[in-house]
Amino acid sequence: MSASNHTSVATTPPKVAYAAFAVTVARIERLGSSFLRVTFRGDDLAHFHFVGLDQRVKLVLPNDESGLSTFPRGIEDWYSAWRETPEPQRCVLRTYTVRDARPALREIDIDFVVHGETGPATRWVSNAVIGDELLVIGPDARTVDLDDPRRVGGAEFNPGNAGRILLAGDETAVPAICSILEAMPRKARGQVFIEIPTKADILPVVAPGGVTVCWLARDERPGLAHGEVLDRAVRAWVSEMVPAPTAEGHRDSDRLADVDIDHDILWEVPGEAAPGEEPQGVAEPATSKLSLYAWLAGEAGCIKDLRRFLVRDSGVHRTDVAFMGYWRLGRSEN
Ligand SMILES: Cc1cc2nc3c(=O)[nH]c(=O)nc-3n(C[C@H](O)[C@H](O)[C@H](O)COP(=O)(O)OP(=O)(O)OC[C@H]3O[C@@H](n4cnc5c(N)ncnc54)[C@H](O)[C@@H]3O)c2cc1C
Repeated sequence: MSASNHTSVATTPPKVAYAAFAVTVARIERLGSSFLRVTFRGDDLAHFHFVGLDQRVKLVLPNDESGLSTFPRGIEDWYSAWRETPEPQRCVLRTYTVRDARPALREIDIDFVVHGETGPATRWVSNAVIGDELLVIGPDARTVDLDDPRRVGGAEFNPGNAGRILLAGDETAVPAICSILEAMPRKARGQVFIEIPTKADILPVVAPGGVTVCWLARDERPGLAHGEVLDRAVRAWVSEMVPAPTAEGHRDSDRLADVDIDHDILWEVPGEAAPGEEPQGVAEPATSKLSLYAWLAGEAGCIKDLRRFLVRDSGVHRTDVAFMGYWRLGRSEN
């Protein structure tokens, strides 16, 4: 989600598409050794526009000194105002997937990966108790009236009419992958690779019969760095399933600029170009001869390598893939 394009809603008109929903922690449930599910509740959530799939929201975490009071609510350009807030008082923003939402009950669920005390979000969730407050920035159902309401909701999964689907991600992509699988038509076919820290992180998931879900636990493969298990599994599957690259595939890869993940966001979904690349202007995904749609999300370095492998080395058309860097090893999201 490009925060700079988003807007916050005031309680008075004119309404805009994104709102800062005030919520409190209603339940905390441990799902696996690395996952905590937090159920948030708030009256405004009755108006949360839930689209499911890999829908993302921004969480506004309370500042140690000023809580949530400095976060600019009720103005359209909240992002600029937030950036201008002096750093000691500025609330931290982080992006998460809506694992589920029940507007009638005014609830949403977020599944957090707990990765020690290394960052503000993991620290917040590790210490969270019932009643803790934060803000969720997401689409307001009262204002969503654009042509493509699903897109407004911040979901990217869009396989078009692809015959086969490849989903691949690390633990941060588990909530999105589980939601996508639950929403897939029963006749869907495909392959899913999910890298997780330990075997105890394998979660129950409902998938169509033609979709194989493969959980890859790092603790069962000692010596491999984060992302390596996923990388190997995807490469092996793609090499088997996808024929050698065509001339068209090579031409496409010629335009594949390198993304500097230290400075740029790795984010390319059909119809959009990654920073520094030519916009392709392609609105509809998944129409190539391969009839494969790939969705990959997780640590940016790993996803960047897989993107190169798929588009440059394997000839998968870039309009048939969505690549999303969800976090960067050794770097805090700002
Ligand atoms: C669209 C989108 C959806 C996402 N959905 C989810 C989700 O549903 N659940 C979820 O848990 N995460 C999700 N993420 C990832 C999450 O936003 C990042 O992991 C974020 O960096 C966590 O913030 P933090 O404050 O804990 O750590 P930061 O302050 O950002 O980073 C501190 C340190 O921790 C490291 N780090 C960050 N994340 C991880 C991790 N997962 N494992 C190990 N080290 C890490 C960083 O490299 C850095 O060294 C999503 C990200 C995006 C862009």
